[in-house]
Amino acid sequence: MKNLKLASREAEKRTVVGVSDVEIGRDFVVIAGPCSVESEEQTLETARAVKAAGADLFRGGAFKPRTSPYAFQGLGLRGLKILVKARQETGLPIVTEVLDPRDVSWVAEFADVLQIGTRNMQNFSLLKEVGKAGRPVLLKRGMYSTLEEWLNCAEYILSEGNPDVILCERGIRTFEKYTRNTLDLSAIPAIRELSHLPIMIDPTHSTGRISLIGPMSLAAVAAGADGLIMEVHYKPEEALCDADQALTPDMFTNIMKRLRPLRSFMDKLPPEMKEHGLCVEVKK
Ligand code: PEP
Ligand code: MN
Repeated sequence: MKNLKLASREAEKRTVVGVSDVEIGRDFVVIAGPCSVESEEQTLETARAVKAAGADLFRGGAFKPRTSPYAFQGLGLRGLKILVKARQETGLPIVTEVLDPRDVSWVAEFADVLQIGTRNMQNFSLLKEVGKAGRPVLLKRGMYSTLEEWLNCAEYILSEGNPDVILCERGIRTFEKYTRNTLDLSAIPAIRELSHLPIMIDPTHSTGRISLIGPMSLAAVAAGADGLIMEVHYKPEEALCDADQALTPDMFTNIMKRLRPLRSFMDKLPPEMKEHGLCVEVKK
């Protein structure tokens, strides 16, 4: 990928993104929380639950990129203030999406990590703005984008002087309809070959199915992902956004319990195997 100057892999170098005391790219990291911030009660209850289950960061959208202009668009500033309360109470750093370049600098005053959603991956003016925001960026893969296009978008952010980019595979569109998208787990080892940036997996938006989130989370760990981002809602049936794919706190706790033994097995692997998940690197 000849156009990449900053996002491409150099020998042995791996980026570690520090967010408070969490080191993404070194520690295995779980981000959890509701699709959108709907109320103080909903957000705080969910934040307490994901913290108790062992999440490292809390997610919640205050600006929602909805397919329909009539669907709930998020609480904006009010939502960000609720997220700050959740952080104060739980100590979990906040991950939240920003949609508009004009909002980046003030949203960055509230957020610990700025999320760029799949629909905005190639919004180049937004990428340039988050490149100047002084906050880590979780860059989701565009649902129609190749790995090369995705890494070029990371390059936009890096080239503005922001070294803290975390890639997140969230499923791409294929002809399959049973799942909401098709989770491209091969993106994990492929990104390892191509880039030094951390790569996380979103088993929620990729599958869109509660029953598949646990299995795909385990598979992502085995393939060497740096972390997971999952949607959890204290009352999924009442969620204003992505209700069908939200885990209850109990379901999330169960997935976290199933991840733990696999994580400790992986941690005992020799370093070269950890790097490539459970697969052995095939030398060319
Ligand atoms: C989200 O994380 O709530 C979201 C909208 O994700 P994506 O951009 O991957 O659809
Ligand atoms: Mn969502």
